[in-house]
Amino acid sequence: MKLHLIAGARPNFMKIAPLWHGLRGHPKIKASFVHTAQHRDDVMSSAIWRELDLPDPDHVLSWEDISDQDPIASMMAAYQGLCNADRPDAICVVGDVNSSLAAANIANQMDIPLIHLEAGLRCFDQTIPEETNRIAIDHMADLLLTPSPDADANLLNEGILPDRIKRVGNIMIDTLVMMADRIERDRIMDQYGLIKDGYCLITLHRPDNVDVPEKLRKLCEALVDVSAKYPVCFPIHPRTRKRMEETGCLEILRSGDVCLLPPLGYAAFGKLMQGAAFVITDSGGVQEETSYLGTRCLTLRKATERPITITHGTNRLVDIDGLTEAALSIAKHQNGMRGCDVVSAIPLWDGATTLRVIAELDQFMSGGMIGR
Ligand code: UDP
Repeated sequence: MKLHLIAGARPNFMKIAPLWHGLRGHPKIKASFVHTAQHRDDVMSSAIWRELDLPDPDHVLSWEDISDQDPIASMMAAYQGLCNADRPDAICVVGDVNSSLAAANIANQMDIPLIHLEAGLRCFDQTIPEETNRIAIDHMADLLLTPSPDADANLLNEGILPDRIKRVGNIMIDTLVMMADRIERDRIMDQYGLIKDGYCLITLHRPDNVDVPEKLRKLCEALVDVSAKYPVCFPIHPRTRKRMEETGCLEILRSGDVCLLPPLGYAAFGKLMQGAAFVITDSGGVQEETSYLGTRCLTLRKATERPITITHGTNRLVDIDGLTEAALSIAKHQNGMRGCDVVSAIPLWDGATTLRVIAELDQFMSGGMIGR
């Protein structure tokens, strides 16, 4: 049976990699890697999938990225062409990016069974595009694979049938476990003279933080303040770099002890997360990974769709006005556990999610796609 694994933007590759590896040699399910071409630059795409030992994609969607065309519509048209030429038996999308919504729409239109991995996450703020993507995908999916009990509850509250919902855990943690040796061996801290627990790591890319020039300037000034106590290491997302170039924010950052870097490879970034005194981010995946690693995380958002990282992990929400104080108070409370109170393991975030996903896929695909 043919299963399409859809990926197109950076966080997708981390989510499909363990599954692609786990399905290799599977007696019934033949997985193909379909790249939607949402992220095209090497550093956000091919460099990442190669590092995760994925092969080149079986299919790369061909569409023109031009400003007056909706990328979701373009990806849908290209993906429909592929499914017409070589119809899969099921389609698996991960997370909440536009690529996942585009493929889910085609599954729905062509009546192809749809699996959503990382289903049920909600931040309850529909001004965030990923939130509307998540809701739309979940309501089209036939099999919803969730990472945590809150996700199950969200789906049930929205009237999704219980027999479609299966809790499998967090596949991103499988990727961290799969890459643990390479993270351990990575030399990036030596390369930049960084000392364990002696620096702060930043990632930012959400429109809410980087698209409003005033806000972005204020944020950069806060980061410069933080850098007076803790050197800041900042691998800049291409989207954020563009905004910073337009607004003169790079100059603000250069006035502090801030090391500006391009987006990093997975192992190098993992090494920096592991070694940081704390992380400041607005990324979804980074909230999860820091919780697993036991590194304190300050999330610059009003709400998170991953509340378990707050209740059971190391995450805390902050706003720009409270950022400097929150960062410096972490520094003050530094102790043997890198500033963390007791970190309890999150159930099923254990590196064995892939096995549970494959067991569910087996049952779903060989049982005539039960639930449809
Ligand atoms: N990441 C990376 N290099 C970087 C920054 C992040 O490999 O320079 C990884 C990070 O460890 C996580 C993923 O990228 O696995 C998160 O991607 P992103 O923040 O783009 O997306 P989100 O999680 O917000 O959807």
